[in-house]
Amino acid sequence: MELIARAKINLSLDVVGKRQDGYHLVRMVMQTVDVCDTLIIKEKDSAGIALACDAPGVPTDSRNLVWKAADLLLQEFRIERGVSILLKKRIPSAAGLAGGSADAACALKGVNELFGLGLSEKELCVRAVGLGADVPYCIMGGTALSEGIGEVLTKLPAVPDCHIVLAKPGDSVPTGEVYQDLDLLRSYPHPDVDGQVRAIREGNLDEIISRMGNVLELVTIPRHPAVAELIQIMERNGAEGARMSGSGPTVFGIFRREKDARLACGELERSGLAKDVFLTRPYPGTGSMQEVDA
Ligand code: ATP
Repeated sequence: MELIARAKINLSLDVVGKRQDGYHLVRMVMQTVDVCDTLIIKEKDSAGIALACDAPGVPTDSRNLVWKAADLLLQEFRIERGVSILLKKRIPSAAGLAGGSADAACALKGVNELFGLGLSEKELCVRAVGLGADVPYCIMGGTALSEGIGEVLTKLPAVPDCHIVLAKPGDSVPTGEVYQDLDLLRSYPHPDVDGQVRAIREGNLDEIISRMGNVLELVTIPRHPAVAELIQIMERNGAEGARMSGSGPTVFGIFRREKDARLACGELERSGLAKDVFLTRPYPGTGSMQEVDA
């Protein structure tokens, strides 16, 4: 079974509180983009999980979210056979693009299919939240408002088609540390998430873009100045708007015209500030993963 796990960007990201157990309460507008990893999942006779990955530095043991996701279902349903999984990475790691979460969502769906467990998308989402805040959203994909600790999801209409450029600086950002440092700030301006949701419902791209905002930039930009420089390069080269995704350091820019987006990609590559540059589009599908060959 070959499965596609797509990355996400945050059209807006706000942190509105903290639960007693330490989890942050978020309000985020999520958008799947067409940059993807591939998972090849096979049943094997012996028990356990055999995970291989083509990207150096990505763990292939129980630290990998794919491993955790598969293990969760194998244990719960007392499945005696195991799975072998090959993970082909294209989504940069620790980049604010939810690569690991998208992979985990795929692994949950794959194991559910492979062993005929019959779990609905909703039942998978309930299990997904324990793996990470973005995993329930990655099960569903498309455009969505994510609230609570990521488990309260509202599906939104697809955003108007546009061109999205992603630029990831060489360094990686540990998400946990960014949220901890945000706690040190007493107050900060909040993006207009409700206004952006309204604009998405109205299909108004200008208003969607003018309400883009990410409170985590307040923490990540002082440590990674390349983020601010990449935002400026995007804006100077035709982006209607540009922001950081998730806890960073990836920056995305929204363009109306493909020609401008391509020119911006060239500038970003020449700047030497971005290690990876992608030209992509919003993925309007019903999921961040799609079964291509079951
Ligand atoms: P988010 O936007 O949800 O915070 P991210 O894009 O910042 O996610 P990930 O790509 O999910 O971060 O990776 C974060 C860390 O998790 C990596 O440094 C890596 O060690 C570990 N990891 C676990 N599973 C995976 C996976 N399947 N792919 C990549 N990294 C993984």
